[in-house]
Amino acid sequence: MEPHFESHGVTADIKQAVKRSETPASTTIIAGPCSVESETQIIATAQALAKIPQVTMLRGGIWKPRTRPGAFEGRGEEGLVWLREAKRVSGLPTATEVATPDHVELALKYDVDALWIGARTVVNPFSVQQLADALQGVDVPVYVKNPVSPDLKLWIGAFERFQKAGITRLAAIHRGFSYYKESPYRNYPMWEIPIELTHQLDVPLITDVSHICGNRELLQAVAQKALDLATDGLMIECHINPDEALTDAQQQITPEALKSLLASLTFRSKQSGKVERDLAGLRSEIDDIDSELLQLLARRMEVSAQIGEYKKLNNVAVVQMDRWKKILDDHVSAGAEMGLSPILINKVFEAIHQESIERQSRIMGND
Ligand code: PEP
Ligand code: MN
Repeated sequence: MEPHFESHGVTADIKQAVKRSETPASTTIIAGPCSVESETQIIATAQALAKIPQVTMLRGGIWKPRTRPGAFEGRGEEGLVWLREAKRVSGLPTATEVATPDHVELALKYDVDALWIGARTVVNPFSVQQLADALQGVDVPVYVKNPVSPDLKLWIGAFERFQKAGITRLAAIHRGFSYYKESPYRNYPMWEIPIELTHQLDVPLITDVSHICGNRELLQAVAQKALDLATDGLMIECHINPDEALTDAQQQITPEALKSLLASLTFRSKQSGKVERDLAGLRSEIDDIDSELLQLLARRMEVSAQIGEYKKLNNVAVVQMDRWKKILDDHVSAGAEMGLSPILINKVFEAIHQESIERQSRIMGND
């Protein structure tokens, strides 16, 4: 990923920042609070982060998209004054989220070095287009987070809008996806999506481990996984006093904890990482499919059991051979159209059917 990061003409600020780094030269570490809350908070956090050599950039949210109204929505313009001061005292380049053309104008007015587009904004092509129009002819790095929903085309579409507006220094931020199933993550990583993005677009990939995890406990494992998949950078939320944070308190860590976290990570060579990334993308897709298969099987057995109860109440035989033969024939022809062999279809559905019969027999007391 090194030449590739280079070929995208990463800003002088980032290059300079990367030089500070003791991690492999191409690994960007963006750290800082979820939200800029006060002048003392951002300055103390920035100064502590600047002492960690691997940290290359300071993040700080100025406008916060909140799920429900009434929560802390960011400090706005006064926060930008503090962020600029934090940059001056720490020497770290800064990044913030912009969601409207007004945000863009203000962020640039206060010398923010890089802008990111949040996951809730990327889902809306109208908003992305407005931002692209506002950035027309402005030479600033833009980092595009994945949309909240697992929609690769929507993510790519956002890049295309910024590319058309002449933005050349683009990077992707992977922050995980909303997912309808229970999971240990706040946002399910679905690694195969950012990996596929890097196959289709030549942009560096930064992994926002904080928003994937949603808690501190998972950060180390997810950050290591991202590095094993040859990520070009990590975004990690850091707060001088995380428990008091006005947003995302459970996932923020102190600068000191960040230092230990970074020391615990293995930064691999980018080349071995690339092969790993491709393989892992496919493996992760298989894992997701297998997990869906398992859930489908469980659901199928539940429905079978309900049928068993119904048959018991109405005194109907467990096995109705004619119906089953017809179903199997239909599956074999549907499978053939999808390139699946009759042997596979027969084996899989016979096994499923057998299990269903056994369950129904138990329910009906025929054992
Ligand atoms: C953030 O970075 O604090 C944030 C709001 O992120 P996302 O858009 O990924 O939810
Ligand atoms: Mn946050």
